[in-house]
Amino acid sequence: MFQNKKHRIALISVDGDPAIEIGKEEAGGQNVYVRQVGYALAQLGWQVDMFTRYSSPEQDAIVQHSQNCRTIRLKAGPSEFIGRDHLFDYLSEFLREFQQFQQNQGFQYPIIHTNYWLSSWVGMELRKQQPLIQVHTYHSLGAIKYRSISNVPVIAIQRLAVEKACLETADRVVATSPQEQKHMRILVSPNGRMEMIPCGTDIDRFGKIAKFAAREHLGITSDTKMVLYVGRFDQRKGIETLVRAIAKSELRGKANIQLVIGGGSRPGQSDGIERDRIANIVAELGLKDCTIFPGRLDDTVLPYYYAAADVCVVPSHYEPFGLVAIEAMASRTPVVASNVGGLQFTVVPEVTGLLVPPKDEVAFAAAIDRILTNPDWGKQLGETGRQRVEIAFSWDSVASRLAQLYTRLLAQSTLVIENKPQLVA
Ligand code: UDP
Repeated sequence: MFQNKKHRIALISVDGDPAIEIGKEEAGGQNVYVRQVGYALAQLGWQVDMFTRYSSPEQDAIVQHSQNCRTIRLKAGPSEFIGRDHLFDYLSEFLREFQQFQQNQGFQYPIIHTNYWLSSWVGMELRKQQPLIQVHTYHSLGAIKYRSISNVPVIAIQRLAVEKACLETADRVVATSPQEQKHMRILVSPNGRMEMIPCGTDIDRFGKIAKFAAREHLGITSDTKMVLYVGRFDQRKGIETLVRAIAKSELRGKANIQLVIGGGSRPGQSDGIERDRIANIVAELGLKDCTIFPGRLDDTVLPYYYAAADVCVVPSHYEPFGLVAIEAMASRTPVVASNVGGLQFTVVPEVTGLLVPPKDEVAFAAAIDRILTNPDWGKQLGETGRQRVEIAFSWDSVASRLAQLYTRLLAQSTLVIENKPQLVA
């Protein structure tokens, strides 16, 4: 009985569906994290249920990923895409649906891992109603986000309060980088229990394709200097800085530079608007001939793009972790990234890539040029990047660290329950 309980876990990600296409508006690192952690935990023997909300009427209620791992969609507001800033009002419905699901199944999850502040609220409410261990990962902190935007949304006050309450009450908050851990302490609360466990990547999926084979597959010539961006279209991702850096590159006109800006977008939505804005800057700077927008890069092509690139650029204004950097490193591609947040943890300057101040197009241009003009050094940076990912950032190692944390917390709570019989009743 205890064995069964011990191995059942709910990963809750109200806004980030682990079973949908990644790379479109608001579907990025969090979705990948939940999905990969879920898959890996299932392989370790856990019974994993990943909960999210319906965002389209065509979606299945349950997606079975493997014998022990499934995505379960609950109703929370209309079955359509709703931006994160507008989801809070539907969380009570999500909570009721979750409880109903438990009741129908005839069990309660002894442990949940919540993702992003919206799900942390669900977790904290559940915890008031049943014996439960809550582990939480923020993925993004309001305290940092709101410092960098001018139009702070109405929900900000609620979000900051929930983030503080969660840090102070959750059984464990998982920081994905030492930088995020420090920011949580300074900006969210001096209290609360934290543990640093990074994000990971699939080291079998990335890094298995040779550069020449990837280029042949994508139709990229061997003399092309390929600069790659992968990610969502969002102003805070700093794509504009990258485009302006390419315009300033000393290699322009001397070498065959190709800028590839990969990521999905939907016309009229905020990512579509940002994509159009970037395309206009590309045109204004006369870069149309050397820039391509291949759209969303799905599982079948993404490893080829990383493997084909001479450098992958992550120009974000802030990243709590930044999966793209380690995916590129796993693919033996050097990274030029903003010197912020988790990128300071993953990218080792002069060893696996280069770090430069965010929004500084001149510094980005210089760093990109340094790598493009020294292919042997670029190759060396790529090899070391691969080693770093193998050692520190494989999903298997990340999931086994999470599994150890869950097991420890479950063992501790069993002791507490044994000492306090009234909790068992
Ligand atoms: N991604 C993808 N296809 C795309 C664009 C992005 O699969 O066209 C994935 C990318 O590989 C990474 C994730 O989306 O796994 C983005 O995560 P990251 O942490 O870099 O940024 P976030 O989206 O969380 O801000």
